[in-house]
Amino acid sequence: MSHAYPPNNAPLQDHARVAISLRMTSESQPPLKAVIIPVTAFQQNCTLLWCTKTMRGAFVDAGGDLDRLKDAAVQHGVTIEKLLVTHGHIDHCGGTGKLAGELGVPIEGPHRDDLFWIERLGQDGMSFGIAGQPFEPDRWLEEGDRVRVGELELEVHHCPGHTPGHVIFYHAPSKLALVGDVLFQGSIGRTDFPRGNLDDLIASITQRLWPLGPETAFVPGHGPMSTFGHERATNPFVGDHVVNA
Ligand SMILES: [Zn+2]
Ligand SMILES: [Zn+2]
Repeated sequence: MSHAYPPNNAPLQDHARVAISLRMTSESQPPLKAVIIPVTAFQQNCTLLWCTKTMRGAFVDAGGDLDRLKDAAVQHGVTIEKLLVTHGHIDHCGGTGKLAGELGVPIEGPHRDDLFWIERLGQDGMSFGIAGQPFEPDRWLEEGDRVRVGELELEVHHCPGHTPGHVIFYHAPSKLALVGDVLFQGSIGRTDFPRGNLDDLIASITQRLWPLGPETAFVPGHGPMSTFGHERATNPFVGDHVVNA
């Protein structure tokens, strides 16, 4: 279940943990730090992000390889206080329910419209050889919601199209977005799954992501980081030259 589109061009290079370089504030220490930890056979970009003031953090899309995730939190001295989920696909949240139980922390996200995906995590896990476990989020998310991690506040934007309940997380002071399978460097999310919709996906990208600003850096669900400005200039599926043509 590769999520890049077209399916066979997914940029799944085997990158190791990649530290995210963030815009510095006037303080010597940025308020948010993050590392990307690719997990599962799909090399899904799980992000460990944390509040540098409190050293409390969250995983975004803890899809699997839970021992590696827990090791990363220990290595960076981060106390995990919650798990955030962009959407209900197995590589993004197959391990989330198990990890939440192990750590005793709540799950926030995705939007309720991905419930049908979360309910089938067990059978999808068997199909793809990934441990998958359905869960009940402690909080479903909607457009305009905010989630807290330590003293950080992240905006929630509902971005349907790849899945109907897909959400993205945005930390405005860092100009950093975690967009799951909505947008990739040079590609967009697949829309050929049940309840996928290309028009919805294009609208999500142009009306919910682009307004966050061209300088905003994003972590996609797979492959390397990019910026919204770079994608507007070059993306063959959703660049300005395509959608404004
Ligand atoms: Zn994915
Ligand atoms: Zn997906």
